[in-house]
Amino acid sequence: MLERVPLLEKELGDYADVVGEEVLSEIARLAEPLRGARILHINATPYGGGVAELLATHVPLLRSLGMDAEWQVMHGSDEFFAITKHVHNALQGAEIEWTAPMQRAYLERNLDNALAIEGEWDFVVIHDPQPAAIMSFLHDSHLTREPARWIWRCHIDLTAANPAVWEFFRPFVEQHHASVWTMPEFVPPSLKMDRIMHAPPCIDPLSVKNLELPSPFCLEITKQYGIDPNRPIMCQVSRYDPWKDPVGVIEAFRLVREQIPDVQLVLAGSMATDDPEGFRLWDETEAARAGDRDIHLLSNLHQVGAVQINAFQRMADVTVQKSLREGFGLTVSEALWKGRPVVGGRAGGIKLQIRDGFDGYLVDSIEECAQRTVDLLADPDNAAKMGENGREHVRQNFLSTRELIDWLTLFTSLAESGLSESTGVAPPS
Ligand code: UDP
Repeated sequence: MLERVPLLEKELGDYADVVGEEVLSEIARLAEPLRGARILHINATPYGGGVAELLATHVPLLRSLGMDAEWQVMHGSDEFFAITKHVHNALQGAEIEWTAPMQRAYLERNLDNALAIEGEWDFVVIHDPQPAAIMSFLHDSHLTREPARWIWRCHIDLTAANPAVWEFFRPFVEQHHASVWTMPEFVPPSLKMDRIMHAPPCIDPLSVKNLELPSPFCLEITKQYGIDPNRPIMCQVSRYDPWKDPVGVIEAFRLVREQIPDVQLVLAGSMATDDPEGFRLWDETEAARAGDRDIHLLSNLHQVGAVQINAFQRMADVTVQKSLREGFGLTVSEALWKGRPVVGGRAGGIKLQIRDGFDGYLVDSIEECAQRTVDLLADPDNAAKMGENGREHVRQNFLSTRELIDWLTLFTSLAESGLSESTGVAPPS
């Protein structure tokens, strides 16, 4: 059996105040024919990173709608996750050597996991490359026979994917009945599938990370981490990952400080079980910090959990997400939802979330990141206005309820059609 992730309880009705009754009625209408459907989500880690964040809300909401939904995590190993992190980097454009022993180790682990799946499922959703080959080991199994439908959900940016690595994965992806992507431009032109849907991720306005928090509470938490709430705060929340460019953020911070001497930087990044690079990047970031007491380098190892992230994002005068590549970047919507403007790298899904000059700024360099941060720090009224714009943008487009509509629409369409039918599903807007 794969590892079953324990879930919180979520009630769709609780979202009425945030999104309105009309949206909830639409969801209830779409969910009705799917009542009792057995839905299994499989990914690589129960915590750390955006996929875990999404599933922690999405799966309980499916359950609250009467579906028999579960989230299970594949079994890995240090060797396996080191390989899949290379794959992740290569699919986002890095050069790697994709050797036969790596491929063998990857496939063996997928075979082990395929054999460990238990139960009967109507829909199996496979997230990202780590478990992408599982389905290929289940030909003629009850798990892939009618009426089961398998969907591959890609959370990363494949626009500059390393061709050798993508060509290895493409046949595995193509065995699925549908694939779901954050943005149309992430889909490699070589991918041949009948159903390719685009559905950006979302945040949960009622998760502990995003719930309203009273200011005195945020103030107290901030102080406990040695951050001065009376001085300007620049903050980036991200895994320690080369694509999130934590060292670039430190360099931008130092440029900001030349103009705003009392500014402080908070870098908060959790370590995920499927990301062995985190500790190396932490060391590199710590070296770049060079003992600077105004740079607060924090992680879940300092008990930084959802509540602390919530408080830091609320206390930040400017949030930054200076990614060089980004699938979506939930942290952008999280900050915008809290009414904070965001300075984001012009990459992947960040471009969906920040309308340049309206909810924050899109930047292409360390210097630009620094200048836009200074602009926002120097004009708090404009910063507050941008934050308000961002909150509305997130309410309309990037909340869990919108994502539910997308998935229920896809499930319905897959359930209604024969597998051989080749009508592509129109992406829900
Ligand atoms: N996160 C967190 N603690 C941290 C760093 C990140 O809880 O110390 C969360 C962050 O708030 C967000 C998710 O991890 O919800 C990261 O998702 P994102 O899409 O931004 O990036 P990914 O890690 O998936 O590349």
